[in-house]
Amino acid sequence: MERTPPLRRIVLAIGLPGSGKSTYFARKGITPLSSDLVRQLLFDDPADQRLPGAVFGILRYLLTARLAGGARVTYVDATNLTRRDRRHFFKIAERFGCAVDALYFDVPVEVCLARNGRRARRVPVEVIERMTRRLQPPTAQEGFRRIVVVASARGKARGGKTRDGVS
Ligand code: ATP
Ligand code: MG
Repeated sequence: MERTPPLRRIVLAIGLPGSGKSTYFARKGITPLSSDLVRQLLFDDPADQRLPGAVFGILRYLLTARLAGGARVTYVDATNLTRRDRRHFFKIAERFGCAVDALYFDVPVEVCLARNGRRARRVPVEVIERMTRRLQPPTAQEGFRRIVVVASARGKARGGKTRDGVS
């Protein structure tokens, strides 16, 4: 009998600036595709917010090239806050027969603001507040196969989801 090949996956980070996405990947030794890396390559500055269409077009192109090259797991480090931001990835996943998993950084905005205030690359407070209002948590209905919630140390557990707390 033929063995079913393991499912290929795209893993989307979802979280506000300062929620700890890049730190999480660095701690795990994972090199994700990242919108900040594309900005660094284009503008020599990961914080330069110009040409978002080009930045995310390149990010998606890198993802499709990885999948065409046979990558089994690809992590995407970007805020990915809204269903609209994420829907492109579901389309790509469908084309390549991949599952889409979410790594949801469910961190209170106050914690994100405090961490943001302590780092070198600061996102303006009003930008983070605006993004908080736009945030749409990932759901199974949206198409995620698996949702892993990464909580901040002070975050409160919510039932029913896998949690992967980091201190
Ligand atoms: P952005 O979307 O702006 O890239 P990010 O989600 O990648 O933000 P990080 O840059 O990883 O956030 O983290 C923001 C700051 O918070 C960093 O200074 C980092 O050291 C700190 N930090 C990240 N994770 C934790 C944690 N679990 N506990 C305490 N501090 C953290
Ligand atoms: Mg980051």
